[in-house]
Amino acid sequence: MNFAVLTDIDDFYEIDSEEGKIVNKRQGVRALILSSRVWRQIEDRLYTDFGSGASVILFDMGRSSGAAIANETVWSDLKHSSGRPDPFRIQHLIRNAATSGWGKMTVSGLEGDRFKVNVLKCVFCSGRSEGKDEVSQCYFLKGVITGVAETVYGVPTKVTETHCSKEYCEFDISMKTLGN
Ligand SMILES: [Zn+2]
Repeated sequence: MNFAVLTDIDDFYEIDSEEGKIVNKRQGVRALILSSRVWRQIEDRLYTDFGSGASVILFDMGRSSGAAIANETVWSDLKHSSGRPDPFRIQHLIRNAATSGWGKMTVSGLEGDRFKVNVLKCVFCSGRSEGKDEVSQCYFLKGVITGVAETVYGVPTKVTETHCSKEYCEFDISMKTLGN
């Protein structure tokens, strides 16, 4: 399934020039908007300062963001107690992510305990500077997907990035569900 639901930016954000604020209209909270270039400079700096430890920091940042995103979304009416993966919930999650401007997302293989997320021209990778490819996988995005999945399903989730390039990134998600 394919979600290309970035329509009109006015549907999502409102600029309050009096207060110097950008507000996320759907959530009614203030938004912080960074350019992808600034984000890459932050990532590069983390790698300069912390070496491979930067990937752990980025993953953890993503994981807590993912958990927060999932908790902010209205899951109460979607949650059910069995702990089994529910395609409906994951579709909502991806639909939400698709409006974040992070790239064109596609989900496949939703039936079982495993599925794939494909992100075309991921915002974290598509403008990556040459020579950084070997150190800059999508640890942040991998963390976001992990945090969302763990929060929604309430079970440990393993996320593996099976492909990472300027063109697309692909993640394999597998959940440990009750009974296995
Ligand atoms: Zn990637």
